[in-house]
Amino acid sequence: MNAEPCFRERLPVERVPDFEQIDADRRAAHAAYMREWRRGHPLSDEARRRDIARSYASVYRRRGLLTREPCRHCGAEETIMHHDDYARPLDVVWLCRPCHRRHHRDHGRPGEARYVPA
Ligand SMILES: [Zn+2]
Ligand SMILES: [Zn+2]
Repeated sequence: MNAEPCFRERLPVERVPDFEQIDADRRAAHAAYMREWRRGHPLSDEARRRDIARSYASVYRRRGLLTREPCRHCGAEETIMHHDDYARPLDVVWLCRPCHRRHHRDHGRPGEARYVPA
């Protein structure tokens, strides 16, 4: 019989890294870097509206208020969020990547004169 405690049991609790804290620090550092970078690379009004619409929608998705749906065009399961109108961030159309790419190639971007909603 060996009565010695194993290595893990002897490790002081404070030596165990706090992974949640490390994660939060890394995210904060990245956010600060992006804020700084953005100062030298301002967004167009349209791009800013698009970014805001996207972040609203992803917050709602994380809270379970928006649910992923199959692609509206082809029924594929793997979909991303598309906005027809960046002023209505929660008005999301679910499209797979190929259909999404095709949509913007054929119809342009919301806000453009030639734009046709998905
Ligand atoms: Zn599709
Ligand atoms: Zn889109």
